[in-house]
Amino acid sequence: MEILNYPCETWTKQKPETRLKTQDSRYKNWVSGLWVWSLWLLTILGGCKARQLTIPTPQMDIEPQFWVRVLLDDNVTACTLKTPSPFTVTNENSDPQIQITRARFDQINVPINIKLTNGRITIARELFPDDEIIIFPDDPHIFSLNGNEYRGKLKLIIDPDGSSFDAINLIPLEPYLAGVVGAEMPNYWEPAALKAQAIAARTYCLYTKKRFGDNRAWDMRKTAAHQVYRGVSAESAQTWNAINQTKGQVLVCKQAGGTEDIFPAYYSSTCAGHTENSINVFGDSYEPLIGVPCPYCKDVAKHRFFFWPMIQFDKAYVTAKLLQRYSRLKRLGEITNISTAAQSNYGEFSRLTKVKLLGSTGKSDFLKAEDLRLTIDPTGRKLRSTICKIIRWGDKWAFLSGRGYGHGVGMCQCGAQGMAREGKTASQILYHYYPGSKILTIDY
Ligand SMILES: [Zn+2]
Repeated sequence: MEILNYPCETWTKQKPETRLKTQDSRYKNWVSGLWVWSLWLLTILGGCKARQLTIPTPQMDIEPQFWVRVLLDDNVTACTLKTPSPFTVTNENSDPQIQITRARFDQINVPINIKLTNGRITIARELFPDDEIIIFPDDPHIFSLNGNEYRGKLKLIIDPDGSSFDAINLIPLEPYLAGVVGAEMPNYWEPAALKAQAIAARTYCLYTKKRFGDNRAWDMRKTAAHQVYRGVSAESAQTWNAINQTKGQVLVCKQAGGTEDIFPAYYSSTCAGHTENSINVFGDSYEPLIGVPCPYCKDVAKHRFFFWPMIQFDKAYVTAKLLQRYSRLKRLGEITNISTAAQSNYGEFSRLTKVKLLGSTGKSDFLKAEDLRLTIDPTGRKLRSTICKIIRWGDKWAFLSGRGYGHGVGMCQCGAQGMAREGKTASQILYHYYPGSKILTIDY
């Protein structure tokens, strides 16, 4: 899984009806001025601070298999911590009985420096002997790392060579999703779309944790490489509603052995008319991921994201990126031709799925089109999809007739909003984009 989604500017925004009219110059008269001064005076006199989010963090006592480990930062040598409540520092041990409290910090809302000193972690100059430590803030279990607020706990792991450490957020599944749904979709979208997003994200997270989590110290990245997680800043009443109203709901389908289980419920921004079969993009095969028509995203996505303009990359840059990423391509030398080896045809457009690379040595090789795209543009924000044509343009490669945004597998996020606008429910949206799937509820 590489890119799942894209930033909020992808879609057409509906105007929020509650937009502050005081921003309009017509309203900048003495009445609003008086209000501003009155509020300012009240703030000063009342000693008011910025409104604090007081929603408690749910599921803090849930079983370990429902905790998510999110990689916040890796290979760092310092960071800044701030907490709205006192916190405890313990060593790491899966058995809570063997966890030893190393320190207790009572300072609140004060920036605290964490750094690596002679291969050991120090917090406010206090040195800890362990390779792994856990910082556990008291209720409401919120901490701020380098200015970004997260719920749950913070785990720090010193890298094997002792030169840096990784920062990992340990957080129960539901509050984790609260930091995902509002980052993946605008919170003013239809409740049914937000609920569909919550269920897809919950499923994808649990699948990824189960499939890959055992072999590494974390389950999810916080970026579009998995699914975007922004912690407390992504939360809103709407996203919490979507999460609470779908609590524990996941998608399952029949697996190769005949049993029912969760599957990687991929999703992406704008499929441009038809979603893609996962086997062509990620190489895995599940009945709900075969690809379906989507007439719903066209009216939701912004025109410039539905149809994107030609983009060019220097040939030397493309060769360098490909050879750096795939050492087997070094025998090709300079890439002299990129041609279509396979594509999915959907009537008015086709999505490239496989390309043939020809090199200056006369040798050739094949690559998934999605891998080519994300090797050339790892952000996926310029080269937005593989629905395009590739041509030689002087000393550049030009990608033209571009359409759609993202890998196109699974739920189309703009399409989900389009269906919701038509009055479809979250389950109708999910059963459309993941045919053959079923919603089950985990009993926490
Ligand atoms: Zn679509």
